[in-house]
Amino acid sequence: MSSTPVVVAIDGPAGSGKSSVSRAAARALGFDYQDSGAAYRALALSALERGVSTEDAAAVIASLDGFDYQIGTDPDDYFVRVDGTDVTDAIREPRVTAVVSHIARVPEVRSYLVDLFRGIIEASSRPGIITEGRDITTVVSPTAPVRILLTASEEARMARRSAELPGQAAGDVGRQLSSRDAQDSRVVDFMNAADGVNTIDSTHLDFDQTVAAVVELVQATRATT
Ligand code: C5P
Repeated sequence: MSSTPVVVAIDGPAGSGKSSVSRAAARALGFDYQDSGAAYRALALSALERGVSTEDAAAVIASLDGFDYQIGTDPDDYFVRVDGTDVTDAIREPRVTAVVSHIARVPEVRSYLVDLFRGIIEASSRPGIITEGRDITTVVSPTAPVRILLTASEEARMARRSAELPGQAAGDVGRQLSSRDAQDSRVVDFMNAADGVNTIDSTHLDFDQTVAAVVELVQATRATT
């Protein structure tokens, strides 16, 4: 087997199910799994904890120096740590989700994290790695042999996200999701498939069917390369 992992790049909007689908597909394939949004969230959380305004680009850029980030890429052992502290749950808190787009629009932050993601991909010791986010098919791994845009109708995405956050009113969850997508799509286009990117629309697929569609695409590509 080649020592270079097969790279599977998956992009999509919030609530498309990319994280859970990517993780389950990685498990089924024996691949690593990288959640790139976790790094943006971890950086936003550490800004909040240090009292750095997420709207102050210069201060956020300064905080990259010494950003001590670790992520578990084993789909059965997912964790996120900053400075050795587990932040796996804290990065999902609404206060982080509300400000993460501020730091994601800073070009220096993006280029720093793109390098970090590429390093994690190269370090994979498994036969492949699925990396998911917003710009993986276009910026992080534009030459990946398998590139997928995972979409779903806005209605389906809002319903799924709302089911994941039972403590929050459905209307609020929907408004936050639309506003975050609107902010994020000013920075990268994750609503339209770039050339050569396969679209999987999960609006009418259940979770297992969506995972199967990803796994089939990876297997079909591996059979022909
Ligand atoms: O995927 P997730 O919702 O956890 O991503 C959190 C945020 O990180 C997104 O709203 C976006 O601002 C940013 N992000 C990004 N590029 C990526 C992954 C995430 O800008 N590849």
